[in-house]
Amino acid sequence: MSGSNTRFIFVTGGVLSGLGKGVVTASIGKLLQFRGYTVDAVKIDPYLNVDPGTLNPVEHGEVFVCEEVWEFEAAPGYRFRIAEIDQDFGTYERFLEMNMHPSNNITSGQVYLSVILKERVGEFLGKTIQVIPHITDEIKRRILGASQRLKPDVLLVEIGGTVGDIEVMPFLEALRQLMLELGKERIILVHVTLVPYLETVGQLKTKPTQHSVKLLQSMGLQPDIIVGRSRIELPEEIKEKISLFCNVPKHAVISDPDLETPYELPMIFERQGLGDLICGLLGLPRRRPDDGAVSEWSELVRRFKEPSSCVRIAMPGKYCMISDSYISIIEALKSSAAWLGLKAEPILIETEEFEQDPEKLRILDDVDGILLTPGFGARGVEGMIMAAEHAIRKQIPLLGICFGAQLLFVALSRLILGLRDAHSTEVDPNTPHPVVDLLSEQREMSLKGGTMKLGGRPVKLVAGTKLHQAYKSERIIERFRHRYHISPRYAELAVEKGLMISAYDELDGTICGIEFRDAWIVGVQFHPEFKSRPREPSPLFIEFIRASYENRRKRGDVMD
Ligand code: GLN
Repeated sequence: MSGSNTRFIFVTGGVLSGLGKGVVTASIGKLLQFRGYTVDAVKIDPYLNVDPGTLNPVEHGEVFVCEEVWEFEAAPGYRFRIAEIDQDFGTYERFLEMNMHPSNNITSGQVYLSVILKERVGEFLGKTIQVIPHITDEIKRRILGASQRLKPDVLLVEIGGTVGDIEVMPFLEALRQLMLELGKERIILVHVTLVPYLETVGQLKTKPTQHSVKLLQSMGLQPDIIVGRSRIELPEEIKEKISLFCNVPKHAVISDPDLETPYELPMIFERQGLGDLICGLLGLPRRRPDDGAVSEWSELVRRFKEPSSCVRIAMPGKYCMISDSYISIIEALKSSAAWLGLKAEPILIETEEFEQDPEKLRILDDVDGILLTPGFGARGVEGMIMAAEHAIRKQIPLLGICFGAQLLFVALSRLILGLRDAHSTEVDPNTPHPVVDLLSEQREMSLKGGTMKLGGRPVKLVAGTKLHQAYKSERIIERFRHRYHISPRYAELAVEKGLMISAYDELDGTICGIEFRDAWIVGVQFHPEFKSRPREPSPLFIEFIRASYENRRKRGDVMD
Protein backbone atom coordinates (compact mmCIF):
# COMPACT_ATOMS: atom_id res chain seq x y z
CA MET A 1 0.00 0.00 0.00
CA SER A 2 2.77 2.44 0.94
CA GLY A 3 5.30 3.17 -1.76
CA SER A 4 8.09 4.46 0.48
CA ASN A 5 10.21 2.57 2.94
CA THR A 6 8.90 4.29 6.03
CA ARG A 7 8.70 2.16 9.17
CA PHE A 8 5.93 2.74 11.71
CA ILE A 9 5.96 2.82 15.49
CA PHE A 10 2.52 2.87 17.06
CA VAL A 11 2.21 4.00 20.66
CA THR A 12 -0.88 3.05 22.68
CA GLY A 13 -1.80 3.75 26.28
CA GLY A 14 -3.19 1.47 28.94
CA VAL A 15 -4.84 1.73 32.37
CA LEU A 16 -5.43 5.49 32.41
CA SER A 17 -4.87 8.66 30.44
CA GLY A 18 -2.33 11.34 31.27
CA LEU A 19 0.61 8.92 31.41
CA GLY A 20 2.82 11.09 29.25
CA LYS A 21 2.49 9.04 26.04
CA GLY A 22 3.41 12.19 24.12
CA VAL A 23 6.72 12.47 25.94
CA VAL A 24 7.37 8.74 25.37
CA THR A 25 6.58 9.09 21.66
CA ALA A 26 8.78 12.17 21.31
CA SER A 27 11.62 10.54 23.28
CA ILE A 28 11.57 7.50 20.99
CA GLY A 29 11.77 9.92 18.06
CA LYS A 30 14.78 11.54 19.71
CA LEU A 31 16.56 8.17 20.03
CA LEU A 32 16.10 7.66 16.29
CA GLN A 33 17.30 11.21 15.55
CA PHE A 34 20.41 10.53 17.68
CA ARG A 35 21.13 7.74 15.16
CA GLY A 36 20.64 9.99 12.16
CA TYR A 37 17.23 8.59 11.19
CA THR A 38 14.54 11.01 10.04
CA VAL A 39 11.22 10.94 11.86
CA ASP A 40 7.77 12.48 11.78
CA ALA A 41 4.88 12.08 14.22
CA VAL A 42 1.14 11.58 13.91
CA LYS A 43 -1.26 11.94 16.82
CA ILE A 44 -4.65 10.32 16.72
CA ASP A 45 -7.35 11.86 18.90
CA PRO A 46 -10.39 9.61 19.18
CA TYR A 47 -12.82 12.41 20.08
CA LEU A 48 -15.44 13.55 17.57
CA ASN A 49 -14.36 17.19 17.40
CA VAL A 50 -12.87 17.93 13.98
CA ASP A 51 -10.01 19.73 15.74
CA PRO A 52 -9.42 20.71 19.39
CA GLY A 53 -9.92 24.43 18.63
CA THR A 54 -13.46 24.42 20.02
CA LEU A 55 -12.43 22.65 23.24
CA ASN A 56 -11.91 24.26 26.63
CA PRO A 57 -8.27 23.54 27.58
CA VAL A 58 -9.31 21.97 30.86
CA GLU A 59 -10.78 19.11 28.79
CA HIS A 60 -7.62 17.94 26.99
CA GLY A 61 -4.98 20.54 27.76
CA GLU A 62 -3.71 23.43 25.70
CA VAL A 63 -4.71 23.89 22.07
CA PHE A 64 -1.43 24.00 20.16
CA VAL A 65 -1.09 26.19 17.07
CA CYS A 66 1.26 25.24 14.28
CA GLU A 67 2.97 27.42 11.73
CA GLU A 68 0.97 26.21 8.74
CA VAL A 69 -2.75 26.39 8.17
CA TRP A 70 -4.02 23.24 6.46
CA GLU A 71 -6.90 23.18 3.97
CA PHE A 72 -8.47 19.89 4.94
CA GLU A 73 -10.49 18.54 2.01
CA ALA A 74 -12.86 16.19 3.81
CA ALA A 75 -14.50 15.21 0.51
CA PRO A 76 -14.54 16.79 -2.96
CA GLY A 77 -15.95 20.31 -2.51
CA TYR A 78 -15.81 20.32 1.31
CA ARG A 79 -12.88 22.23 2.76
CA PHE A 80 -12.05 23.17 6.34
CA ARG A 81 -9.15 25.22 7.76
CA ILE A 82 -7.12 23.50 10.44
CA ALA A 83 -4.20 24.94 12.40
CA GLU A 84 -5.29 24.15 15.95
CA ILE A 85 -4.01 20.79 17.06
CA ASP A 86 -3.43 18.62 20.10
CA GLN A 87 -1.02 19.74 22.80
CA ASP A 88 1.19 16.69 22.15
CA PHE A 89 2.40 18.45 19.00
CA GLY A 90 4.02 21.02 21.28
CA THR A 91 5.91 18.15 22.93
CA TYR A 92 6.89 16.76 19.51
CA GLU A 93 8.12 20.18 18.31
CA ARG A 94 10.12 20.75 21.50
CA PHE A 95 11.77 17.31 21.46
CA LEU A 96 12.14 16.73 17.73
CA GLU A 97 13.01 20.36 16.95
CA MET A 98 10.92 20.51 13.80
CA ASN A 99 7.65 22.14 12.78
CA MET A 100 4.76 19.71 12.77
CA HIS A 101 2.04 19.73 10.14
CA PRO A 102 -1.65 20.06 11.15
CA SER A 103 -2.64 17.15 8.91
CA ASN A 104 -0.68 14.91 11.28
CA ASN A 105 -3.39 15.33 13.91
CA ILE A 106 -6.06 12.83 12.92
CA THR A 107 -9.31 13.00 14.89
CA SER A 108 -12.34 10.71 14.78
CA GLY A 109 -14.25 13.85 13.84
CA GLN A 110 -12.20 14.26 10.64
CA VAL A 111 -12.40 10.57 9.77
CA TYR A 112 -16.18 10.30 10.18
CA LEU A 113 -16.76 13.68 8.51
CA SER A 114 -14.79 12.54 5.45
CA VAL A 115 -16.55 9.21 5.16
CA ILE A 116 -20.02 10.70 5.60
CA LEU A 117 -19.41 13.57 3.15
CA LYS A 118 -17.89 11.15 0.62
CA GLU A 119 -21.06 9.09 0.90
CA ARG A 120 -23.12 12.22 0.12
CA VAL A 121 -20.91 13.06 -2.83
CA GLY A 122 -21.52 9.56 -4.14
CA GLU A 123 -18.10 7.96 -3.71
CA PHE A 124 -19.54 4.72 -2.36
CA LEU A 125 -22.68 4.42 -4.49
CA GLY A 126 -24.51 1.18 -3.90
CA LYS A 127 -22.64 0.32 -0.70
CA THR A 128 -23.56 0.14 2.98
CA ILE A 129 -21.16 2.42 4.86
CA GLN A 130 -19.67 0.69 7.89
CA VAL A 131 -16.98 1.16 10.53
CA ILE A 132 -15.16 -1.79 8.95
CA PRO A 133 -14.06 -1.29 6.20
CA HIS A 134 -14.98 2.35 5.46
CA ILE A 135 -13.87 4.06 8.67
CA THR A 136 -10.82 1.82 9.06
CA ASP A 137 -9.89 2.38 5.39
CA GLU A 138 -10.08 6.13 5.90
CA ILE A 139 -7.86 5.85 9.02
CA LYS A 140 -5.28 3.81 7.09
CA ARG A 141 -5.43 6.25 4.18
CA ARG A 142 -4.70 9.16 6.51
CA ILE A 143 -1.81 7.39 8.28
CA LEU A 144 -0.21 6.24 5.04
CA GLY A 145 -0.81 9.70 3.58
CA ALA A 146 1.08 11.21 6.52
CA SER A 147 3.99 8.86 5.80
CA GLN A 148 4.12 10.18 2.21
CA ARG A 149 4.41 13.85 3.17
CA LEU A 150 8.03 13.86 4.44
CA LYS A 151 8.75 10.20 3.70
CA PRO A 152 10.61 9.84 7.03
CA ASP A 153 12.61 6.75 7.93
CA VAL A 154 10.21 6.25 10.82
CA LEU A 155 6.69 7.58 11.38
CA LEU A 156 5.60 7.63 15.02
CA VAL A 157 1.84 7.23 15.48
CA GLU A 158 0.51 7.97 18.94
CA ILE A 159 -3.02 6.75 19.54
CA GLY A 160 -4.68 8.98 22.13
CA GLY A 161 -7.04 7.74 24.80
CA THR A 162 -6.78 4.40 26.53
CA VAL A 163 -7.06 0.87 25.18
CA GLY A 164 -10.60 -0.24 26.01
CA ASP A 165 -12.25 3.11 25.16
CA ILE A 166 -15.02 2.57 22.63
CA GLU A 167 -13.82 5.50 20.49
CA VAL A 168 -10.30 4.02 20.23
CA MET A 169 -11.51 0.68 18.80
CA PRO A 170 -11.59 1.60 15.07
CA PHE A 171 -8.01 2.91 15.29
CA LEU A 172 -6.75 -0.29 16.93
CA GLU A 173 -8.56 -2.32 14.30
CA ALA A 174 -6.94 -0.19 11.58
CA LEU A 175 -3.57 -0.86 13.22
CA ARG A 176 -4.23 -4.61 13.19
CA GLN A 177 -5.05 -4.45 9.48
CA LEU A 178 -1.97 -2.34 8.74
CA MET A 179 0.26 -4.88 10.48
CA LEU A 180 -1.12 -7.55 8.20
CA GLU A 181 -0.75 -5.41 5.07
CA LEU A 182 2.69 -3.90 5.72
CA GLY A 183 4.23 -6.88 7.46
CA LYS A 184 5.58 -7.13 11.00
CA GLU A 185 9.05 -5.97 10.00
CA ARG A 186 7.79 -2.49 9.11
CA ILE A 187 5.57 -1.79 12.06
CA ILE A 188 5.89 -2.21 15.82
CA LEU A 189 3.68 -1.51 18.80
CA VAL A 190 4.82 0.20 21.99
CA HIS A 191 2.32 0.04 24.83
CA VAL A 192 2.66 2.57 27.65
CA THR A 193 0.96 1.59 30.91
CA LEU A 194 0.86 2.59 34.53
CA VAL A 195 2.73 0.48 37.05
CA PRO A 196 1.31 1.92 40.27
CA TYR A 197 3.14 1.98 43.59
CA LEU A 198 0.93 0.79 46.44
CA GLU A 199 1.95 2.64 49.57
CA THR A 200 0.29 0.18 51.94
CA VAL A 201 2.35 -2.78 50.75
CA GLY A 202 5.35 -0.78 49.52
CA GLN A 203 5.24 -2.50 46.11
CA LEU A 204 4.86 -1.79 42.42
CA LYS A 205 1.85 -3.60 40.97
CA THR A 206 1.75 -5.16 37.51
CA LYS A 207 -1.88 -6.33 37.37
CA PRO A 208 -3.26 -3.21 35.59
CA THR A 209 -0.57 -3.68 32.93
CA GLN A 210 -1.47 -7.36 32.54
CA HIS A 211 -5.13 -6.45 32.08
CA SER A 212 -4.55 -3.75 29.49
CA VAL A 213 -2.22 -6.01 27.49
CA LYS A 214 -4.89 -8.74 27.59
CA LEU A 215 -7.34 -6.21 26.11
CA LEU A 216 -4.90 -5.49 23.28
CA GLN A 217 -4.34 -9.20 22.69
CA SER A 218 -8.10 -9.76 22.47
CA MET A 219 -8.08 -7.37 19.52
CA GLY A 220 -5.30 -9.29 17.80
CA LEU A 221 -2.53 -6.93 18.87
CA GLN A 222 0.63 -8.00 20.70
CA PRO A 223 2.86 -5.19 21.99
CA ASP A 224 6.54 -5.49 21.04
CA ILE A 225 7.65 -3.17 23.81
CA ILE A 226 6.02 -2.25 27.12
CA VAL A 227 6.89 1.07 28.73
CA GLY A 228 6.01 1.05 32.43
CA ARG A 229 5.18 4.49 33.80
CA SER A 230 5.94 4.47 37.51
CA ARG A 231 7.31 6.53 40.38
CA ILE A 232 10.63 4.72 40.31
CA GLU A 233 12.64 2.64 37.82
CA LEU A 234 11.13 -0.82 37.45
CA PRO A 235 13.11 -3.37 39.50
CA GLU A 236 14.28 -6.54 37.72
CA GLU A 237 11.61 -8.76 39.26
CA ILE A 238 8.85 -6.42 38.07
CA LYS A 239 10.27 -6.43 34.55
CA GLU A 240 10.38 -10.25 34.72
CA LYS A 241 6.77 -10.43 35.82
CA ILE A 242 5.55 -8.09 33.07
CA SER A 243 7.60 -10.05 30.55
CA LEU A 244 6.10 -13.37 31.63
CA PHE A 245 2.48 -12.25 31.81
CA CYS A 246 2.47 -9.94 28.81
CA ASN A 247 4.42 -12.08 26.35
CA VAL A 248 7.31 -9.68 25.69
CA PRO A 249 11.02 -10.34 26.27
CA LYS A 250 12.37 -8.84 29.50
CA HIS A 251 14.71 -6.45 27.68
CA ALA A 252 11.63 -5.02 25.95
CA VAL A 253 10.08 -3.94 29.27
CA ILE A 254 11.25 -0.38 29.71
CA SER A 255 11.13 1.95 32.74
CA ASP A 256 9.60 5.40 32.49
CA PRO A 257 10.08 6.82 36.02
CA ASP A 258 9.16 10.27 37.42
CA LEU A 259 11.82 12.76 36.33
CA GLU A 260 12.80 16.31 37.24
CA THR A 261 12.59 17.25 33.58
CA PRO A 262 10.89 15.33 30.75
CA TYR A 263 13.87 16.09 28.50
CA GLU A 264 15.82 13.46 30.47
CA LEU A 265 13.59 10.64 29.21
CA PRO A 266 15.55 9.96 25.97
CA MET A 267 18.65 9.45 28.13
CA ILE A 268 16.82 7.06 30.46
CA PHE A 269 15.54 5.11 27.42
CA GLU A 270 18.97 5.07 25.78
CA ARG A 271 20.54 3.62 28.94
CA GLN A 272 18.03 0.75 28.81
CA GLY A 273 18.95 -0.04 25.20
CA LEU A 274 15.62 1.08 23.73
CA GLY A 275 17.16 2.76 20.67
CA ASP A 276 19.01 -0.38 19.55
CA LEU A 277 16.03 -2.57 20.40
CA ILE A 278 13.73 -0.51 18.15
CA CYS A 279 16.23 -0.46 15.27
CA GLY A 280 16.54 -4.25 15.59
CA LEU A 281 12.78 -4.80 15.56
CA LEU A 282 12.27 -2.54 12.55
CA GLY A 283 15.19 -4.01 10.62
CA LEU A 284 17.01 -0.66 10.57
CA PRO A 285 20.81 -0.86 10.52
CA ARG A 286 22.01 -0.49 14.12
CA ARG A 287 23.81 2.82 14.06
CA ARG A 288 25.62 4.16 17.09
CA PRO A 289 23.99 7.31 18.48
CA ASP A 290 25.91 10.38 17.38
CA ASP A 291 28.16 11.45 20.29
CA GLY A 292 27.75 15.15 19.54
CA ALA A 293 23.95 14.99 19.42
CA VAL A 294 23.77 12.98 22.65
CA SER A 295 26.15 15.24 24.54
CA GLU A 296 24.31 18.37 23.41
CA TRP A 297 21.05 16.89 24.69
CA SER A 298 22.74 15.87 27.98
CA GLU A 299 23.99 19.41 28.36
CA LEU A 300 20.42 20.64 28.00
CA VAL A 301 19.26 18.23 30.72
CA ARG A 302 22.09 19.39 32.98
CA ARG A 303 20.99 22.99 32.53
CA PHE A 304 17.51 22.09 33.76
CA LYS A 305 18.82 20.10 36.71
CA GLU A 306 21.49 22.46 38.02
CA PRO A 307 20.04 25.98 38.26
CA SER A 308 21.94 28.56 40.32
CA SER A 309 18.81 30.33 41.54
CA CYS A 310 15.08 30.48 40.92
CA VAL A 311 12.56 32.95 39.58
CA ARG A 312 8.87 32.89 40.58
CA ILE A 313 6.33 33.70 37.90
CA ALA A 314 2.63 34.13 38.65
CA MET A 315 0.26 33.01 35.92
CA PRO A 316 -3.16 34.55 36.56
CA GLY A 317 -5.58 32.67 34.34
CA LYS A 318 -8.89 30.95 33.76
CA TYR A 319 -7.98 27.32 33.17
CA CYS A 320 -5.73 26.65 36.17
CA MET A 321 -7.43 23.42 37.29
CA ILE A 322 -4.91 21.55 35.14
CA SER A 323 -1.39 22.78 34.37
CA ASP A 324 -1.59 21.22 30.88
CA SER A 325 -3.84 24.15 29.88
CA TYR A 326 -0.71 26.27 29.68
CA ILE A 327 1.91 23.62 28.89
CA SER A 328 3.75 25.52 26.14
CA ILE A 329 3.90 28.67 28.28
CA ILE A 330 5.19 26.72 31.26
CA GLU A 331 7.79 24.97 29.08
CA ALA A 332 8.84 28.31 27.57
CA LEU A 333 9.25 29.80 31.06
CA LYS A 334 11.28 26.81 32.23
CA SER A 335 13.46 26.64 29.12
CA SER A 336 14.25 30.33 29.05
CA ALA A 337 15.01 30.30 32.78
CA ALA A 338 17.27 27.27 32.30
CA TRP A 339 18.97 29.13 29.45
CA LEU A 340 19.85 31.85 31.97
CA GLY A 341 20.98 29.29 34.58
CA LEU A 342 17.75 29.68 36.57
CA LYS A 343 14.79 27.56 37.54
CA ALA A 344 11.35 28.99 36.78
CA GLU A 345 8.60 28.33 39.31
CA PRO A 346 5.26 29.00 37.61
CA ILE A 347 2.40 29.69 40.03
CA LEU A 348 -1.03 29.20 38.47
CA ILE A 349 -3.73 31.42 39.99
CA GLU A 350 -7.41 31.15 39.09
CA THR A 351 -8.40 34.82 38.76
CA GLU A 352 -11.95 34.37 40.01
CA GLU A 353 -10.19 34.27 43.41
CA PHE A 354 -9.13 37.92 42.98
CA GLU A 355 -12.73 38.87 42.16
CA GLN A 356 -14.04 37.16 45.29
CA ASP A 357 -11.33 38.56 47.56
CA PRO A 358 -9.16 41.42 46.24
CA GLU A 359 -6.85 40.95 49.25
CA LYS A 360 -5.55 37.87 47.41
CA LEU A 361 -3.81 40.20 44.93
CA ARG A 362 -1.11 40.38 47.61
CA ILE A 363 0.15 37.02 46.30
CA LEU A 364 1.50 39.05 43.39
CA ASP A 365 3.81 41.01 45.71
CA ASP A 366 5.72 37.79 46.40
CA VAL A 367 6.44 36.92 42.80
CA ASP A 368 9.17 38.20 40.50
CA GLY A 369 7.10 38.48 37.34
CA ILE A 370 3.57 38.00 36.03
CA LEU A 371 2.57 36.17 32.89
CA LEU A 372 -0.96 37.18 31.91
CA THR A 373 -2.37 34.18 30.08
CA PRO A 374 -4.33 33.67 26.83
CA GLY A 375 -8.00 32.74 27.00
CA PHE A 376 -11.56 33.27 25.87
CA GLY A 377 -14.83 34.46 27.38
CA ALA A 378 -15.95 36.51 30.37
CA ARG A 379 -15.36 34.24 33.38
CA GLY A 380 -12.41 35.38 35.50
CA VAL A 381 -11.68 38.37 33.27
CA GLU A 382 -12.15 41.09 35.92
CA GLY A 383 -9.63 39.18 38.04
CA MET A 384 -7.14 39.18 35.17
CA ILE A 385 -7.62 42.92 34.70
CA MET A 386 -7.10 43.42 38.45
CA ALA A 387 -3.81 41.50 38.19
CA ALA A 388 -2.69 43.72 35.28
CA GLU A 389 -3.63 46.90 37.17
CA HIS A 390 -1.67 45.63 40.15
CA ALA A 391 1.39 45.01 37.97
CA ILE A 392 1.12 48.49 36.44
CA ARG A 393 0.83 50.19 39.84
CA LYS A 394 3.70 48.23 41.37
CA GLN A 395 5.77 48.08 38.17
CA ILE A 396 6.08 44.30 38.35
CA PRO A 397 7.52 42.79 35.13
CA LEU A 398 4.60 41.48 33.09
CA LEU A 399 4.26 39.62 29.83
CA GLY A 400 0.71 39.50 28.46
CA ILE A 401 0.03 36.95 25.74
CA CYS A 402 -2.94 37.32 23.37
CA PHE A 403 -5.95 37.69 25.73
CA GLY A 404 -3.36 38.67 28.34
CA ALA A 405 -2.14 41.52 26.10
CA GLN A 406 -5.70 42.62 25.35
CA LEU A 407 -6.61 42.69 29.07
CA LEU A 408 -3.37 44.53 29.85
CA PHE A 409 -4.57 47.17 27.41
CA VAL A 410 -8.01 47.26 29.09
CA ALA A 411 -6.27 47.74 32.47
CA LEU A 412 -4.12 50.60 31.24
CA SER A 413 -7.09 52.23 29.50
CA ARG A 414 -8.93 52.24 32.81
CA LEU A 415 -5.96 53.20 34.97
CA ILE A 416 -3.99 55.58 32.77
CA LEU A 417 -6.51 56.88 30.24
CA GLY A 418 -9.15 57.15 32.97
CA LEU A 419 -11.76 55.24 30.92
CA ARG A 420 -13.38 53.40 33.81
CA ASP A 421 -15.79 51.45 31.56
CA ALA A 422 -13.20 50.43 28.99
CA HIS A 423 -13.49 46.80 27.97
CA SER A 424 -13.10 44.24 25.25
CA THR A 425 -16.28 43.74 23.24
CA GLU A 426 -15.70 40.00 23.67
CA VAL A 427 -16.66 40.46 27.33
CA ASP A 428 -18.88 43.57 27.23
CA PRO A 429 -20.36 44.08 23.74
CA ASN A 430 -21.99 47.35 24.90
CA THR A 431 -18.95 49.04 26.44
CA PRO A 432 -18.77 52.78 25.68
CA HIS A 433 -15.00 52.34 25.21
CA PRO A 434 -14.30 49.26 23.05
CA VAL A 435 -10.52 49.38 23.52
CA VAL A 436 -10.33 45.78 22.30
CA ASP A 437 -12.67 44.93 19.44
CA LEU A 438 -13.43 42.30 16.79
CA LEU A 439 -11.06 42.12 13.84
CA SER A 440 -12.93 43.49 10.83
CA GLU A 441 -12.69 40.19 8.91
CA GLN A 442 -14.38 38.44 11.84
CA ARG A 443 -17.54 40.55 11.70
CA GLU A 444 -19.31 38.34 9.17
CA MET A 445 -18.06 35.10 10.71
CA SER A 446 -20.66 32.89 12.35
CA LEU A 447 -18.98 29.47 12.27
CA LYS A 448 -16.68 28.79 15.22
CA GLY A 449 -14.40 25.94 14.08
CA GLY A 450 -11.10 26.97 12.45
CA THR A 451 -12.31 30.50 11.73
CA MET A 452 -9.99 32.58 13.92
CA LYS A 453 -6.93 34.38 12.63
CA LEU A 454 -4.58 31.40 12.79
CA GLY A 455 -1.06 30.19 12.18
CA GLY A 456 2.34 31.75 11.57
CA ARG A 457 2.38 35.31 10.16
CA PRO A 458 5.05 37.95 9.61
CA VAL A 459 5.30 40.61 12.30
CA LYS A 460 7.11 43.97 11.97
CA LEU A 461 8.95 45.10 15.09
CA VAL A 462 9.51 48.79 15.82
CA ALA A 463 13.15 49.81 16.35
CA GLY A 464 14.05 50.99 19.84
CA THR A 465 11.45 48.84 21.61
CA LYS A 466 11.96 46.02 24.09
CA LEU A 467 10.48 43.63 21.54
CA HIS A 468 13.02 44.69 18.95
CA GLN A 469 15.84 44.36 21.46
CA ALA A 470 14.65 40.87 22.39
CA TYR A 471 14.33 39.50 18.86
CA LYS A 472 17.21 41.55 17.40
CA SER A 473 15.30 41.71 14.16
CA GLU A 474 12.80 43.93 12.41
CA ARG A 475 10.73 41.09 11.06
CA ILE A 476 9.78 37.85 12.76
CA ILE A 477 7.29 35.05 12.19
CA GLU A 478 5.07 34.22 15.14
CA ARG A 479 1.87 32.21 15.53
CA PHE A 480 -1.61 33.64 16.05
CA ARG A 481 -4.97 32.50 17.34
CA HIS A 482 -7.48 35.27 17.96
CA ARG A 483 -10.61 37.14 16.83
CA TYR A 484 -10.20 40.42 18.74
CA HIS A 485 -7.44 43.04 18.65
CA ILE A 486 -6.25 46.21 20.36
CA SER A 487 -8.05 49.23 18.90
CA PRO A 488 -5.57 51.53 17.08
CA ARG A 489 -7.70 54.57 17.96
CA TYR A 490 -7.35 53.98 21.71
CA ALA A 491 -3.74 52.85 21.36
CA GLU A 492 -2.91 56.28 19.92
CA LEU A 493 -4.42 57.95 22.98
CA ALA A 494 -2.29 55.69 25.16
CA VAL A 495 0.86 56.58 23.21
CA GLU A 496 0.39 60.17 24.40
CA LYS A 497 0.55 58.78 27.96
CA GLY A 498 3.78 56.85 27.49
CA LEU A 499 2.71 53.58 25.82
CA MET A 500 4.79 52.29 22.93
CA ILE A 501 3.36 50.28 20.07
CA SER A 502 6.12 47.82 19.37
CA ALA A 503 4.78 45.46 16.69
CA TYR A 504 2.37 45.29 13.77
CA ASP A 505 1.02 42.40 11.73
CA GLU A 506 2.81 42.86 8.42
CA LEU A 507 -0.18 41.62 6.41
CA ASP A 508 -3.14 43.44 7.93
CA GLY A 509 -1.46 46.18 9.99
CA THR A 510 -3.12 45.26 13.31
CA ILE A 511 -1.28 46.09 16.51
CA CYS A 512 0.63 43.03 17.72
CA GLY A 513 2.76 44.44 20.51
CA ILE A 514 2.48 47.11 23.21
CA GLU A 515 4.88 48.02 25.98
CA PHE A 516 5.57 50.58 28.67
CA ARG A 517 8.49 52.91 28.10
CA ASP A 518 9.71 52.87 31.68
CA ALA A 519 8.85 49.41 32.98
CA TRP A 520 9.17 45.85 31.67
CA ILE A 521 5.46 45.54 30.94
CA VAL A 522 4.89 44.03 27.51
CA GLY A 523 1.87 42.59 25.71
CA VAL A 524 1.92 40.59 22.49
CA GLN A 525 -1.02 39.53 20.35
CA PHE A 526 0.90 36.48 19.07
CA HIS A 527 1.94 33.35 20.98
CA PRO A 528 5.73 33.21 21.40
CA GLU A 529 5.38 30.08 23.55
CA PHE A 530 4.54 27.91 20.54
CA LYS A 531 7.90 28.50 18.88
CA SER A 532 9.97 28.28 22.04
CA ARG A 533 12.15 25.18 22.18
CA PRO A 534 14.35 23.98 25.01
CA ARG A 535 17.58 24.45 23.07
CA GLU A 536 16.31 27.67 21.47
CA PRO A 537 13.97 29.39 23.91
CA SER A 538 11.82 32.30 22.76
CA PRO A 539 13.91 35.51 22.91
CA LEU A 540 10.91 37.33 24.38
CA PHE A 541 10.58 34.81 27.21
CA ILE A 542 14.31 35.09 27.89
CA GLU A 543 14.02 38.88 28.26
CA PHE A 544 10.92 38.50 30.44
CA ILE A 545 12.74 36.07 32.75
CA ARG A 546 15.76 38.37 32.81
CA ALA A 547 13.57 41.32 33.85
CA SER A 548 11.78 39.19 36.46
CA TYR A 549 15.07 38.00 37.92
CA GLU A 550 16.31 41.59 38.02
CA ASN A 551 13.16 42.45 39.96
CA ARG A 552 13.90 39.56 42.34
CA ARG A 553 17.39 40.93 42.97
CA LYS A 554 15.98 44.40 43.63
CA ARG A 555 13.48 42.97 46.05
CA GLY A 556 16.38 41.38 47.89
CA ASP A 557 15.27 37.78 47.44
CA VAL A 558 18.61 36.75 46.00
CA MET A 559 21.54 35.78 48.17
CA ASP A 560 24.25 35.99 45.52
N1 GLN B 1 -10.22 35.75 23.18
C1 GLN B 1 -9.24 36.57 22.53
C2 GLN B 1 -9.49 36.69 21.05
O1 GLN B 1 -10.17 35.86 20.47
C3 GLN B 1 -7.83 36.08 22.81
C4 GLN B 1 -7.55 34.71 22.24
C5 GLN B 1 -6.35 34.05 22.85
O2 GLN B 1 -5.91 34.40 23.95
N2 GLN B 1 -5.79 33.06 22.17
O3 GLN B 1 -9.00 37.58 20.43
